[in-house]
Amino acid sequence: MNRHGGNYAVSSDRTIGRRSLLKAAGVTALASTLAATTAGRASAVEELAWDAIVIGAGYAGGTAARELAAKGLNTLVLEARDRIGGRIWTGSFAGEQVDIGGGWFGPGQTNVERELQRYHITTSLDVAATRAVMPSATGFTSQSPADAFGHLGTLFGQFYAGSETYFERPLEPLYRKDLLASVDATSLAARLDQLGLSATDQKWINGSTSVFAGGPSSSGGLAGMAQWFQLAGGTYEGFESTMSLKPAGGMVSILKAMFAESTARIRYNSPVTAVTDTGSGLTKVKTAGGLVYQAPVVVVAVPVNVWRTITFNPGLPKVHADAALEGVGVPTATKLWLQVSGVSDAVYAQAPEGSPILLMLPQKQLADGSRLYVAFAGSGLNVSDAAAVKAAVRGLVPEATVVDYRAMQWGKEAYTRGGWGLRKPGQLLRQLPAIQQPHGRMVFAGSDIASGWYGAFVEGAIESGLTAAQQAAVIAG
Ligand SMILES: Cc1cc2nc3c(=O)[nH]c(=O)nc-3n(C[C@H](O)[C@H](O)[C@H](O)COP(=O)(O)OP(=O)(O)OC[C@H]3O[C@@H](n4cnc5c(N)ncnc54)[C@H](O)[C@@H]3O)c2cc1C
Repeated sequence: MNRHGGNYAVSSDRTIGRRSLLKAAGVTALASTLAATTAGRASAVEELAWDAIVIGAGYAGGTAARELAAKGLNTLVLEARDRIGGRIWTGSFAGEQVDIGGGWFGPGQTNVERELQRYHITTSLDVAATRAVMPSATGFTSQSPADAFGHLGTLFGQFYAGSETYFERPLEPLYRKDLLASVDATSLAARLDQLGLSATDQKWINGSTSVFAGGPSSSGGLAGMAQWFQLAGGTYEGFESTMSLKPAGGMVSILKAMFAESTARIRYNSPVTAVTDTGSGLTKVKTAGGLVYQAPVVVVAVPVNVWRTITFNPGLPKVHADAALEGVGVPTATKLWLQVSGVSDAVYAQAPEGSPILLMLPQKQLADGSRLYVAFAGSGLNVSDAAAVKAAVRGLVPEATVVDYRAMQWGKEAYTRGGWGLRKPGQLLRQLPAIQQPHGRMVFAGSDIASGWYGAFVEGAIESGLTAAQQAAVIAG
């Protein structure tokens, strides 16, 4: 596996605000302690003199940092990796720009649309499939995309029946809380069982539900996916269109523009290990390198699955601690980029739950006639084993020869510990809205805890970053 990806820092030196200097003056003792540890880096006063600290330079953190800086707060972003973007990572494969993490925007994602306009970033439509390979009673069958997607539409209509009522306002998932108790308790697998579908129709749906659950369909909540379905207009076509638009410059392009516009400073390779509310109006943030930064308010914009790796003082409230233990990011989110030869058409392929590759989506055709594909693997595929990857693809599309591939196992990444978010059964009612509330001088942000397009969408990360910036600005005073 290669490691690509840019370092999009825009970290110009500039004068520290008067407010910050006054605050720094009150912490002289700590400043002098730190002076020794920060020798050769920024001055101790600069290390200390922040109005706000944002932990994590993904879309939620980047949004929060831009907004806080725009309010005049001297803002520092501490990022564990050597790049911005987090679960968005625009890199390269087969000489082409590709997205290793999130890959598409969809229409109707209003935060994304506003940012695209703000930064004059255009989008293009993804490649349309010309053939669909779908599960049959004995293996797989080829169909026209119109037939396959038409039948999937019928099945998903049954699967999500009632969601237009219990998610009457999908941007406010608790608006019909009165109807949600049994829905929220139901897993995707249990919902499938309720429908009494034929064995083949079960396979048509459980491949899709297990992709989104990032593991068995029993681990994902019906409410989690039904909310997305309603956000997308309550139709299968709408749901598919959430994976239709590619921004020029890749998925990181908006975030790159946000950091370019912002005066927030960013420090890379700074994994945060502890956040301590001192009780005297300041919060200290410690990194693995031993540096300590402090500010009146800290925005924790790392994935929920990462919270358990950070020591919070005082400890997290129960709802946050429970979510950290349960996880919101799905366990298996293995995305592959494949370069495939031997297939003349643009194939959409979907396999039943438990298959080594669950979904293949056609991408750009290259000059030599080969084609790029995005694939999502099941937990059983060893992506380090090239022969296994090739065999898994041939199992779906027998004439396909994998020329090369690049795989990313997001569930195994130290600073992600999961993939996109999908709420587990019961998590919606147990977590919202408490998980969105600040804890003293700590504010939380991330797509995992958004209200609307939560979990699997940059849209939710931006929503959450905007909310967190408002909360943090109030706390900063
Ligand atoms: C394979 C995959 C496919 C996806 N597909 C799509 C898609 O097509 N469309 C879409 O809109 N969304 C998609 N998503 C979801 C989308 O990527 C996320 O919802 C969104 O990027 C989350 O943003 P975030 O800022 O909340 O979290 P993250 O992007 O995870 O950002 C968190 C940041 O915190 C940093 N961090 C972690 N721990 C620490 C620490 N201890 N100290 C300091 N920094 C730390 C991380 O390095 C990271 O930069 C996909 C996700 C994955 C994994």
